[in-house]
Amino acid sequence: MPSQRVRPEILNFTPYVPGLTIEEIKARYGLSTVIKLASNENPLGASPVVQQVLSRAVDQVFRYPQNHSPRLTQAIAGAMGVPAEMVVAGNGSDEIIDLLLRVVAQPGQDNVVCYEHSFSMYALMARLCGVEYREVPRGEDFRLPLESLAEAVDHNTALVFVTSPDNPTGLAARAEELMVLSGVLPEGALLVVDEAYMDFSWPPEEYSMMNLAAELGNVVVLRTFSKAYGLAGLRLGYGVMPVWLADHVRRARPPFSVNLLAEEAGIAALEDDAFYSATLEVVFKGRELLLKRLPELLCTVWPSQANFVMFRPPLSAGVVCEELLKRGIIVRHLKSFGLPGNIRVNVGTGPETEAFLKALEEILNA
Ligand SMILES: *Cc1c(COP(=O)(O)O)cnc(C)c1O
Repeated sequence: MPSQRVRPEILNFTPYVPGLTIEEIKARYGLSTVIKLASNENPLGASPVVQQVLSRAVDQVFRYPQNHSPRLTQAIAGAMGVPAEMVVAGNGSDEIIDLLLRVVAQPGQDNVVCYEHSFSMYALMARLCGVEYREVPRGEDFRLPLESLAEAVDHNTALVFVTSPDNPTGLAARAEELMVLSGVLPEGALLVVDEAYMDFSWPPEEYSMMNLAAELGNVVVLRTFSKAYGLAGLRLGYGVMPVWLADHVRRARPPFSVNLLAEEAGIAALEDDAFYSATLEVVFKGRELLLKRLPELLCTVWPSQANFVMFRPPLSAGVVCEELLKRGIIVRHLKSFGLPGNIRVNVGTGPETEAFLKALEEILNA
């Protein structure tokens, strides 16, 4: 194909680089068992209740789902205490990020603002849309630089992205601070708070913007079923946003992007309190263990409100990751986030987290 036909944004595009799957790692390193602590997935897997609901719904997959997933949207609204008109479900929260950009950001004119070392999807999708991506430095010790974000904004800013709790640092901004940021944004700019990891924060009411979204009017909150609800492979997320914006996003969305099984699974997952609590229990326990043991192994760690911990080992992070892989444990080297000295490890089951710590100790003491 003649590449002159391809848009320049696409020609120069570097795509998202996902972590390797367990099967890919087994094949590459000749391993029979692999512990994957690299993608912040649920350590308990998929809820047994949800699995049952899925198997019962399977015979319906010849049908189109209901467009805009009204039953799921109602269930989300009920669980989050927000009006259903504000909720838009998507094929992962990634789809909502893409839709927001395409609905509000003018190519070649507008910009979006975020801070360095953040989730790459915001920048990738902005570039695909032909929208300028502005990046501000982080504060000291990776603090979320809310004041710098406010300073970088101008009257062409469409969206300001904050991930809280943050990926990959685990740090979270307080709702009070985010309220201040929303209050100083120029008219027309929206504050997007990506709360993919909010389930793991404690206490959530100090951090989440969910309850404030309705009254603030320029805030979008993103949530996902990929982490605490254990449904990453089904692709389900949502945004809570002002009603006028939700109407436009729904109109712009390709029909049926939330599939029939994802809708059933999402509704069941929201009702499955036992699995949700069990997930939080494993994550809180494992996170505490990592935060205690990593410094004993002379690693620098950052406090975390997420289901993972960022740390800096006393040896090359690349070497540490490679040695862990040889032992069948995959973690995320943060080179791709522009932090080549750092590693992100998510909490696994009790035995998985222990196995990681044991392997790391072996490597660092060798
Ligand atoms: C995992 C993650 C998401 C979730 O994406 P989905 O498309 O819903 O799977 C969103 N934002 C951040 C920062 C994440 O780390």
